[in-house]
Amino acid sequence: MQRLAVLGGGESGVGTAILGKKKGFEVFVSDKGRIKPEYKNVLIHNEIRWEEGGHTESEILNADLVMKSPGIPDTAPLVKKLHEAGVKVISEIEFAASYTDAVLVGITGSNGKTTTTMLTDHVLKEAGLDVAMAGNIGDSFAQMVATRSPEYYVLEISSFQLDGIVDFRPHIAVITNITPDHLDRYEYQFEKYIASKFRIAMNQTEEDYLIYDADDPVITGWLEQHPVRSRLIPFSLEKEPEEGVCIIENEIKININNQQLNMSTETLTLQGKHNQKNAMAASAVAQLLKIRKSTIRDSMQSFQGVEHRLEQVLKIHDVVFINDSKATNVNATYFALESMKTPTVWIVGGVDKGNDYLPLMSMVREKVKAIICLGVDNAKLMNTFGNVVDVMVETTSMSEAVQMAHKIADKGESVLLSPACASFDLFESYEDRGNQFKNAVRSL
Ligand code: ADP
Repeated sequence: MQRLAVLGGGESGVGTAILGKKKGFEVFVSDKGRIKPEYKNVLIHNEIRWEEGGHTESEILNADLVMKSPGIPDTAPLVKKLHEAGVKVISEIEFAASYTDAVLVGITGSNGKTTTTMLTDHVLKEAGLDVAMAGNIGDSFAQMVATRSPEYYVLEISSFQLDGIVDFRPHIAVITNITPDHLDRYEYQFEKYIASKFRIAMNQTEEDYLIYDADDPVITGWLEQHPVRSRLIPFSLEKEPEEGVCIIENEIKININNQQLNMSTETLTLQGKHNQKNAMAASAVAQLLKIRKSTIRDSMQSFQGVEHRLEQVLKIHDVVFINDSKATNVNATYFALESMKTPTVWIVGGVDKGNDYLPLMSMVREKVKAIICLGVDNAKLMNTFGNVVDVMVETTSMSEAVQMAHKIADKGESVLLSPACASFDLFESYEDRGNQFKNAVRSL
């Protein structure tokens, strides 16, 4: 019997273990930390052996195959030993993909993955296709492959998942954009992070497609230097590619495989230029899969948006409160500010991952009336924007921040939570931060 060792007992680890067991492997799950009770129950129920609080190397180094969960870096001592011993170490999507014949749509990028994935899934479902959504979102891909066999998968894929692929080959790949993120895992070399994102296309052939943001100089620059075999489908707000997607006078124009589709940007439910890009990417996927034009148009209008991403919470005394807690980096916040149509009270701050706030300067001058810092250390924000806005205050809890924002905002203005930072100083997660914001707004 082939032996599969699974490092990490979270969503991808447990999914892999279930699929591995089903495919006849002898499976052992090992987690250096604690495994959540619900995952333990699943492992016990499926009669899969597991350990927590450390790795028993003798059980792992002699495995035939190792699946490493995305949270574990290549620099972890056990992973290094595995590499030295020549053991094959792969990621969950690599493992899961080898057991499905479904058409794979893989979506990666620094921002917009979840939104684009959900939007794509929505269009495909509206078209009546047998589709499942998985990856970094909801259930793991492996768990899905173990329990269902849909004809299409729409997968949200992180760079960490891509680092562990060997043969994974999506028929349609999307790269939404590439801006510096997670550099701690890439030896602080942006190039390595870019290379990781482009692994999504590394096994593609001339029969496959790569949809990408042609306005992103990082992507276009990389493609010039490192051509791919897949057919390129660019989308752009600035240019009109011969084949691809663009916007001219508030009309999204898709031209793919000699098929044209026009759609007004005014009918899109999602606001902001970045969401126009996400809509272009999702529509391009739909067009490649030959979905009816009317279905694509209707789906772009009926999509309800994703929680914590520019989510409109409430309007109180004509002040709109918007939750963009998922904006954990500067680029996401840039697009949030860009989408604001009224003077804005901006709630920002948290754990700064080495942020450079200067790219936000023009947006802040144009749109921001007051800044409310919400973080343990706000010094960098205070230094950058202290002289730019009239009102800048520091707060230490969400309810304090929201009450302060409520006091400052006048009728017709907006309050935007778009932190540009991770949440772990004051909150458990970005979801916790967003939920606390919504609760505080609702109790005003
Ligand atoms: P991801 O899954 O890649 O983190 P999300 O769809 O969850 O992406 O969005 C993360 C944040 O980035 C949100 O604040 C959202 O408003 C913003 N965002 C969404 N799409 C884009 C885009 N195409 N470019 C830049 N920012 C985006």
